[in-house]
Amino acid sequence: MITDMNLENMQRMKAAGIRPSYVRMKILSYIRSASNHPTADMIYKVLAEEIPTLSRTSVYNTLCVLEGAQLLRNVSIDGEGMRFDAFMPDHGHFRCTKCGNIFDLEIDVKSAEVKIPSGFTETRRDLFVYGICPHCSGFDESTKK
Ligand SMILES: [Zn+2]
Ligand SMILES: [Zn+2]
Repeated sequence: MITDMNLENMQRMKAAGIRPSYVRMKILSYIRSASNHPTADMIYKVLAEEIPTLSRTSVYNTLCVLEGAQLLRNVSIDGEGMRFDAFMPDHGHFRCTKCGNIFDLEIDVKSAEVKIPSGFTETRRDLFVYGICPHCSGFDESTKK
């Protein structure tokens, strides 16, 4: 089935100069639709049910290719495994210390006031906020005005 997202993913891969193989398409679509910043292992477990021939190695390799083509980025936090994010505009992350989930935050990361001493070259900036997500704190969305 060709969905809008699949079509868009295919165009993104072509624009990035990589071949939109079946596995690449599956992995990119999964990361985009899961929006929970899955680890390579989570991706493997879910997709292996659909693609019995899938190996962990091909998941890692594919993630590497997609990251190199700037269709994904990795988010690593607290020394746990790398998680993958297909939302490319600059943004921060909220990490729930109870369930461990990572949520996207709208933050103008570049304008955050950080003084980089002279002589240092910044190549990447990540912004993390730690706390408890509404699910874990029992926050009831329906009472929110
Ligand atoms: Zn939580
Ligand atoms: Zn994110």
